[in-house]
Amino acid sequence: MNILVINAGSSSLKYQLMDPDTGAVSAKGLCERIGIDGKFTYKVDGKTVIDAEPIAMPTHAEAIEAVLAALVNAKHGVIGSMDEIDAVGHRVLHGGAKFTKSCLVDEACKQAIRECIPLGPLHNPANLIGIEACEKVMPGKPQVAVFDTAFHMTMPAEAYIYALPYEYYEKDQVRRYGFHGTSHRYIAERALALLGREKNPEGTKIINCHLGNGSSLCAIKDGKCVDTTMGLGPLAGIPMGTRCGDIDGTIIEYLMSRYGYDIKEMMNILNKKSGVLGISGVSSDFRDLEAAEQSGNERAKLALDKFFYETRKAIGAYAAAMGGVDAIVFTAGVGENGVANRARVMKGLEYLGAKLDPERNNTRGKEALISTDDSTVKVFVIPTNEELMIAKDTAALAK
Ligand code: ADP
Repeated sequence: MNILVINAGSSSLKYQLMDPDTGAVSAKGLCERIGIDGKFTYKVDGKTVIDAEPIAMPTHAEAIEAVLAALVNAKHGVIGSMDEIDAVGHRVLHGGAKFTKSCLVDEACKQAIRECIPLGPLHNPANLIGIEACEKVMPGKPQVAVFDTAFHMTMPAEAYIYALPYEYYEKDQVRRYGFHGTSHRYIAERALALLGREKNPEGTKIINCHLGNGSSLCAIKDGKCVDTTMGLGPLAGIPMGTRCGDIDGTIIEYLMSRYGYDIKEMMNILNKKSGVLGISGVSSDFRDLEAAEQSGNERAKLALDKFFYETRKAIGAYAAAMGGVDAIVFTAGVGENGVANRARVMKGLEYLGAKLDPERNNTRGKEALISTDDSTVKVFVIPTNEELMIAKDTAALAK
């Protein structure tokens, strides 16, 4: 089976052609600068075949056409014709409280995604454009929407409600939604399998640390999300590459009145100029920060210390929320590759019964148990695979 997985942004579109049963990716790539000058990359079996070729892409429809043309191309294509694509799966950012799982795209589904635009103003319009571009170029092909928020819809009310006047929840849908849900769900399934509990998840307690440029933690009890660090939007939780994470709302009023910022400028600071970039003044990239720290940069050290401290605190909070923890998982760019980073997060968590094995922890980018044999909490590295989850949901619903 061939599933085309699409992740459409406002001016970009990532794609993968994938077998949902094996996870094998036959081709993948990226369309960038849609609506500007159009850049196209295409990889087969991990090797770059087309790199940044300028292709006219005034809209996402031309981007999808370029993807299909490359996939069926006589020289470097991987399928004979478009008929060999069984279905298309789309990553959609915000499903509000409406979508608790993935859904086959029809008019009602599109309307519901449209209704969630106020909650995901940057991403949902782009996701819809991606869906409609596929409808135009591949009419009749089954399409599935997979939501970043869906996995979190099992949170209890005490976890998702904000302590604001209740009418904002009732009338305006202000509540915690959480993101990276497809990644957290993939990790939950893999972690349960590694614990030998995929058939009987009741009673299991897993904390997943998705640490990348955007970061979030998820508390997973009985295989279901019971809390997560991101909120109404992806700005909340632990500090990130450029996002501030949780801050006191008073700061917003204070800085706006001191500097005369309007709300757009203020939000830009919180989203793009904060996090580890904001503290360090060096970079949002953890490799740059580690290098700067090693050469004696105190603010790079402080940015990293803050990130590890808040991550460790969130782990402690979720252990308290679930009444214990069986497994802690590290995933995404920093979680999968940052050997020293994982050790620094885990430092001081021995009281929970979680002991890292330094030799086992010396691993990158592959599934591994990194705790000692006598650690009562198992600590794993599990590379995330949101695309595989999207492909599997798409295949199941398209049938
Ligand atoms: P995104 O949220 O954009 O998907 P990723 O999950 O790809 O982000 O994570 C990107 C982050 O992972 C970057 O900050 C990068 O520095 C970090 N990273 C990648 N490789 C390593 C490594 N070997 N050691 C430490 N950090 C790493």
